[in-house]
Amino acid sequence: MDEIGGRHRAKNAQGEERMARRSSAQGVAAGEEPRAEALARIAALVGAPHALTDPTLMAPFLADERGLYTGRAAMVVRPATTAEVAGVVRICAEAGIAIVPQGGNTSLVGGSVPHEHGREIVLSLSRLNRIRAVDAANDSLVAEAGVTLAEVQAAAAEADRLFPLSMASEGSCQVGGVLSTNAGGTAVLRYGNARELTLGIEVVLADGRVLDLLSGLRKDNTGYDTKQLFIGAEGTLGIITAAVLKLFPRPREVETALVALPRLGAVTELLARLRRASGDAVSAFELIPRIALDFVLRHVPGTSDPLAGAHPWYVLVELSSPRPGTGLREALEQALSGAVEDGLVADATLASSEAQRAGLWRLRDAIPEAQKREGGSIKHDVAVPVARVPEFIETASRAVTAEMAGIRVVAFGHAGDGNIHFNLSQPEGMDRDAYLARWFDFNRIVHDIVAGMGGSVSAEHGIGRLKRGEFARYADAAEIELMRRIKAAFDPKGILNPGKLLPPE
Ligand SMILES: Cc1cc2nc3c(=O)[nH]c(=O)nc-3n(C[C@H](O)[C@H](O)[C@H](O)COP(=O)(O)OP(=O)(O)OC[C@H]3O[C@@H](n4cnc5c(N)ncnc54)[C@H](O)[C@@H]3O)c2cc1C
Repeated sequence: MDEIGGRHRAKNAQGEERMARRSSAQGVAAGEEPRAEALARIAALVGAPHALTDPTLMAPFLADERGLYTGRAAMVVRPATTAEVAGVVRICAEAGIAIVPQGGNTSLVGGSVPHEHGREIVLSLSRLNRIRAVDAANDSLVAEAGVTLAEVQAAAAEADRLFPLSMASEGSCQVGGVLSTNAGGTAVLRYGNARELTLGIEVVLADGRVLDLLSGLRKDNTGYDTKQLFIGAEGTLGIITAAVLKLFPRPREVETALVALPRLGAVTELLARLRRASGDAVSAFELIPRIALDFVLRHVPGTSDPLAGAHPWYVLVELSSPRPGTGLREALEQALSGAVEDGLVADATLASSEAQRAGLWRLRDAIPEAQKREGGSIKHDVAVPVARVPEFIETASRAVTAEMAGIRVVAFGHAGDGNIHFNLSQPEGMDRDAYLARWFDFNRIVHDIVAGMGGSVSAEHGIGRLKRGEFARYADAAEIELMRRIKAAFDPKGILNPGKLLPPE
């Protein structure tokens, strides 16, 4: 799939060429011989079957999730232990070989795949896949970087606990990638994002030393909180090899409802009321526009509209409590019927079984998949203050519709924490490439509105390769300068995921 039209891909590629030239001037060894020798040492270290150079075997590691980028690599290396990761990084540091760390490769911003010049190696962490320990007394577990998010959730459940981070990619994305992108997901409004769910990490530094910050202490004020710098760094400061993750009591009572709203403006007041009525038990609050539901009903087999009649907006609400019998269902029913009386809610349905609950979640989780089937989609992963979500969606919808008649706004997602996926499906019948060639024009319109509201142009997917220009445009120059200094201090040779996150100089 080619998400961005040809013109913009060409622009990107030129920028990347410049990066490649700069990176080879800076760090990559002058002669080919030392490189070849270093690659041979890496293969000997991890074992030949785990040092891939066959193009067919390497292919899945070289293309990103959305088909925006397909790179090349000198080798795909798959170490099995922290010591092996450290050994690989040491060799790369000596030889000036750039490293692209990769977890589940579900990045939506092209962060996890190499550039086209082919001189980097991909370092896949997926063989570091053990749960090292579960500490019930500390409500924590230690997972290696290659454990998938779903496996972390399962290990927590086995210990009768909850690991709350949840998102549609959870079967594939891995702990190292989740932390490196500071992933969000559907439960941020209750439990926080990856940053808030991490008690410690183990990380291989750019010179190959291993930094063990795995104490898992809940209180530790000895200086700077170094681990937080690696979280959200997208592999540019170090290679995460393991993490201590926070666990929570497992919910014993869960209530899920699909709530239809007569107007978008009702969304903020509804969230506030549900929080009050449930004793702050709201664990998900996902906005779904009618057009997204229509896409899902049209393209995803086995789905059906649970409510009679069409409504402009819906919210998928989940309340949960670790204590059984707290009366969440009654609280939800009462709050909703009050909201109906006050004109905030038009209709609602509550799940009465696990199957019904899964069916309601399917309507939400299938939106990206269904939207793909409607042609090209120009995407924005933005955050605005929670109270301004309706104003943002209305203002931005007007602006993009004025720019292109027939454009279809699909604004959905984590309204409870102000993070909206403001995706724009192409007008029906329009040529897909011609539409996607307008990608950056629409980014400009939408991101200017977001910036004007004090929002963020990347709420949860990160910067990667795709958003470096947008980051440069909207970030404070002083902050970028500080980030460059941090990068230089952590990775003086510039070998860790070059050309990602930091804007081009
Ligand atoms: C269907 C779908 C739904 C999604 N929903 C959400 C969502 O709701 N919320 C959200 O936040 N994201 C979402 N994402 C984006 C993506 O799943 C997350 O960014 C995820 O955290 C990436 O994990 P990964 O293991 O796939 O990392 P990768 O894609 O492999 O890598 C991501 C970045 O981290 C770096 N990296 C990977 N492993 C390491 C490591 N061990 N050490 C250092 N750096 C490393 C990579 O170099 C890259 O820059 C979604 C993606 C898909 C496809």
